[in-house]
Amino acid sequence: MGAKILVVEDEPAIVELLDVNLTSAGYTVLKAGDAATANVILREMSPDLVLVDWGLPGRSGMDFIRAVRRDADTTNLPLIMLTARAADQDKVYGLENGADDYITKPFSPREVIARVNAALRRRSPQAKSAQIKFADLCIDPDLHQVLVGNRPLVMSPTEFRLLHFLMTYPQRVHTRAQLLDKVWGTGSYVEERSVDAYVGRLRSLLEPSGHAGMIETVRGVGYRFSCNSGA
Ligand code: CA
Repeated sequence: MGAKILVVEDEPAIVELLDVNLTSAGYTVLKAGDAATANVILREMSPDLVLVDWGLPGRSGMDFIRAVRRDADTTNLPLIMLTARAADQDKVYGLENGADDYITKPFSPREVIARVNAALRRRSPQAKSAQIKFADLCIDPDLHQVLVGNRPLVMSPTEFRLLHFLMTYPQRVHTRAQLLDKVWGTGSYVEERSVDAYVGRLRSLLEPSGHAGMIETVRGVGYRFSCNSGA
């Protein structure tokens, strides 16, 4: 049996679309039309990932996400927000309140599957300390080394931490504030625009080998490491 995906959505057509596509991708689909039903399923079925619509009857998807994050049992559960709201502020708000990723409606089923696969992969425990490799770009946290093919890339410790963090969570969008928190640490006095400067430096290091495009700017939101682009 594949991983269990809980779909929390009140529009039957969207539930159906997700059900058909996730099932054919090998997942087991659980369904809830509102947050209260979703909470029961969370306790009884322990899903591996939740897709949550923003606009639900009763409690909003955002409230639901916040509650899931506050609960010790589900604090690490991967959550992907489904939203018709294309506004950048809503995306930032969602990510900063505990969503791992967001998908804007209308979406393509292929995109949903790709995001679900990526979210489940980065939650697997082995993903953190091991070597991470995309195409011929490889980062090794134990050796503190970045390789393009067989050629090492020399970078500063902060550049290394930033690249490692981005590569650990491929496809996930991080806001500047989140990157500051995770890469520089909560107590740091670094400004958000420093993140842009470091991203710029990483891109120039990756430029000669054609990998600069893997660090994508998500306009109005932040940055993402894309394993689909680049050499
Ligand atoms: Ca809805």
